Amino acid sequence: PASDASRELAGRLVEVLDLFERTCTDNEQELGRLDAVAGDGDHGQGMCAGSRGGTAAAHRALERGAGARTVLVHAGTAWSESAGGTSGALWGAALTAAGGAFDDESGSDDARTVAALVAGVDAVRRLGGAQVGDKTMVDAAVPFVETLRAEYDRTGDLAAATSAAARAAREAADKTADLTARLGRSRVLGAKSVGTPDPGALSFSLLMEALGGHLGS
Ligand code: ADP
Ligand code: MG
Ligand code: MG
Repeated sequence: PASDASRELAGRLVEVLDLFERTCTDNEQELGRLDAVAGDGDHGQGMCAGSRGGTAAAHRALERGAGARTVLVHAGTAWSESAGGTSGALWGAALTAAGGAFDDESGSDDARTVAALVAGVDAVRRLGGAQVGDKTMVDAAVPFVETLRAEYDRTGDLAAATSAAARAAREAADKTADLTARLGRSRVLGAKSVGTPDPGALSFSLLMEALGGHLGS
């Protein structure tokens, strides 16, 4: 069974997942519109379905008394299954890997939270195999973790470091508009994507902006 401290942390993680779900819902149309330019137009739907399924599973695990690690592992599995699609598999793997940085014993710890974010992005890179410049969510995720690590090491302030990292991710996501997509469905229509940012890079930066705001509130 999980310790009280880990269950308390799990409750906070579920609040973050609730926020991710709201952020996806608020941006569903825009993400779909961007994905329709050179992809199949379902990125808004996929992010909404994934975040809804992941959040529901996290609530169920929390109600059963699960700790931080177990809640995130369940959320990741459910996100992948509910979303379908490439980004759903990647977000699911990211949440499950982030859960691996926690356990069901310890309470909240800023250094561990940084490690969880880094582990999530590492999982996306490993599973998807994308490099920076391929016009995927990795283009936003890599500057995110680089800035997060540097700012957290420099200041020890998790909320400020996360917000700074989210700003770096957003700038990088916006800059993907200049690139031609080389991976995923949109590789077929890669040239059509020039002038439009990658939807997965944008959704990544939107969720991290929401996280930064939440940690700072
Ligand atoms: P699908 O492409 O299956 O319809 P989505 O539309 O939900 O899935 O997600 C598309 C997004 O997934 C892209 O905008 C891109 O950011 C991301 N993506 C696609 N392939 C990869 C990959 N190999 N690595 C990382 N991200 C990827
Ligand atoms: Mg799509
Ligand atoms: Mg699709």
